[in-house]
Amino acid sequence: MDEALARAWIAAAAEVVRAEADRLTDLDAAIGDGDHGVNLRRGFDAAVAALGPLPSTTAGDVLGKTGTTLLSKVGGASGPLYGTVFRALGKTLRDGGSLADGLRAALDGVQKLGKAVVGDKTMVDALSPAVAAYAAAAGAGEAAAARAAADAAAEGVLATVPLQARKGRASYLGERSIGHPDPGATSTALILAALADVTARGSAR
Ligand code: ADP
Ligand code: MG
Repeated sequence: MDEALARAWIAAAAEVVRAEADRLTDLDAAIGDGDHGVNLRRGFDAAVAALGPLPSTTAGDVLGKTGTTLLSKVGGASGPLYGTVFRALGKTLRDGGSLADGLRAALDGVQKLGKAVVGDKTMVDALSPAVAAYAAAAGAGEAAAARAAADAAAEGVLATVPLQARKGRASYLGERSIGHPDPGATSTALILAALADVTARGSAR
């Protein structure tokens, strides 16, 4: 991933989060407190604003800056978790790792912080299969890998519907959390779909 692709990803993520903010908030209203869309929109808008004046740099710095911005602006449970995702991506790329490595580090960071495993009805249910799918498809190129990751994340969201939440605010609902998709898994899938879109556009250039 180069700097231009990293910037394009964050811009596209901000755009889809803005477009879907009401839906994310509705999902969170069903099993949480109804702030997820608002939280993420504030964070990604701030990230885009922070990247604007950032002089020409590396993809790692772009993603790292995004992470620190999300960390300070999103709030709630998802702020530190998304902050961790992008800071881990940034650090891994800065250290010379691949995007596959970065996604793995992001998942590790989220699980270390939030202690959620697959099946707890959280963003891990989207991120974990996405990381595996990206790694499995990495040999087919970045665009194919990103698309595989986005598809796996979307499937992961559907898989959260019948689950009872065991982490985060939704877990307070007990069985009443069953029957709804997890908001954080949903936003993870949207952000990875944005990555797939910009990567496909980039490799078609
Ligand atoms: P809050 O729950 O504090 O209002 P948000 O509404 O912004 O925060 O985010 C809720 C989302 O955060 C959930 O849908 C879930 O995906 C994610 N989440 C909450 N707790 C955890 C956790 N321990 N590990 C991973 N993800 C979590
Ligand atoms: Mg919430």
